[in-house]
Amino acid sequence: MLLMRALAAVVAVLLGAGIGAVMGSAMQAPTAGATFGAALGAAALAWWDTARGETLLHWLRGPQLGAIPRETGWWGEMAYRVERGLRLRDTGIEAEKQRLRDFLDAIEASPNGVLLIDKGDQIEWCNGVAAEHFGLDRERDRRQRITNLVRTPAFVSHLQRGQYEDAVVFPGPNGRGTLQVLVRRYGDGMKLILSQDITERERAEAMRRDFVANVSHEIRTPLTVLAGFVETMLRLPLTEVERQRVLTVMTQQTDRMQSLVGDLLTLAQLEGSPRPPVDRWLPVADLMQRVQADALALSAGRHTLCVAGGGDAEIAGSDTELLSAVGNLVNNAVRYTPAGGRIDVTWRWRDDGSAEIAVTDTGPGIAREHLARLTERFYRVDGSRSRETGGTGLGLSIVKHVVQRHGGVIDITSDVGKGSTFKLVLPALRVRRRAGVVAEPAIPV
Ligand code: ADP
Repeated sequence: MLLMRALAAVVAVLLGAGIGAVMGSAMQAPTAGATFGAALGAAALAWWDTARGETLLHWLRGPQLGAIPRETGWWGEMAYRVERGLRLRDTGIEAEKQRLRDFLDAIEASPNGVLLIDKGDQIEWCNGVAAEHFGLDRERDRRQRITNLVRTPAFVSHLQRGQYEDAVVFPGPNGRGTLQVLVRRYGDGMKLILSQDITERERAEAMRRDFVANVSHEIRTPLTVLAGFVETMLRLPLTEVERQRVLTVMTQQTDRMQSLVGDLLTLAQLEGSPRPPVDRWLPVADLMQRVQADALALSAGRHTLCVAGGGDAEIAGSDTELLSAVGNLVNNAVRYTPAGGRIDVTWRWRDDGSAEIAVTDTGPGIAREHLARLTERFYRVDGSRSRETGGTGLGLSIVKHVVQRHGGVIDITSDVGKGSTFKLVLPALRVRRRAGVVAEPAIPV
């Protein structure tokens, strides 16, 4: 390359000298003409060279948007090398940008909040979940001090204390739910704040604590009664009549504990097992027959019972679960309806293809304010009446579980002093008509 440039210089000088000598001879000064011509040739080459360099420099100084000037020779190679260097740099930058975008997208997809703050506790970046948790506006609140925006004392003091081994739990800044926040240091005084909404977990934990407390209470009461009577029998000489009375009460208490344990096991089974199959079809007539037999035995002739409909229908689901649900409703109706009352168990098709099993009684009814809470575990309107009649307070929560597992809902309506209706509404997907069967008329028994 250098040789070429030297050659070009020699050619320019010689050409200049030649032309200068020819023009100088005309003025009788060939030597001066040749010298001047050689100098002029060298200067012309230098100028042309500088102009080509300037073109390249001009392009480099600018935003480098258009194509790089195409030159030949020394400047051509220089342009090519510069262009290649720039292209490599741009590709590298684009790859890094893409990596950063992918990384931020991954953090964005996290179910937890991620917030980055600098040395001065100013927000550098946060994902959408963190913005929602802390009530931040991602654009507006950028570079704002986090403690000016999230003023919850537990959070502020945790951040300022500087000991971040443990997580801190506090109510969400916008009054919604509970947040668990973990702070970690990184880089040069930067902090990573991870937030998690633990409202549901807290609620489940509170429910679990309540449930254990309720179960313990329900078991302790009959146990205390039993322990008292056992002690009485051990210490006091009882007459045969007294002994019989004590044994009767003891039997009632053990029955109560047995029912409670039975219902608890049913609930545990319902919660732990997969949903009932959608393709196992059961004739509703069988279910109604078994319900009727149980109701007759329970009522022992104290009520008018009427079980009707369903002879033309089938349900897809679990027969034991459905029997337990309808059985619980009938059991309640019998227990709460005074003697002489009427209890109806009916199957009815609905216009949208779904169907309902309704248990209606002429019992005491339930005040409106209790209706929404009836299916909660251990919720009772009248605790003593429920226990006296052998209730566990779990019956309706079992019913609700069963119907929900079959994709349906429980619908309760009641009029104080007139009676109540409990309906199990089953979706169209789980009910169908049996081909060629006609529904039988209702017969009171
Ligand atoms: P329990 O074992 O106490 O009957 P349930 O969960 O079956 O528990 O019912 C919850 C409460 O709903 C009962 O304690 C009772 O107060 C009320 N209840 C349920 N069914 C009836 C009904 N048919 N008539 C009046 N009250 C009812």
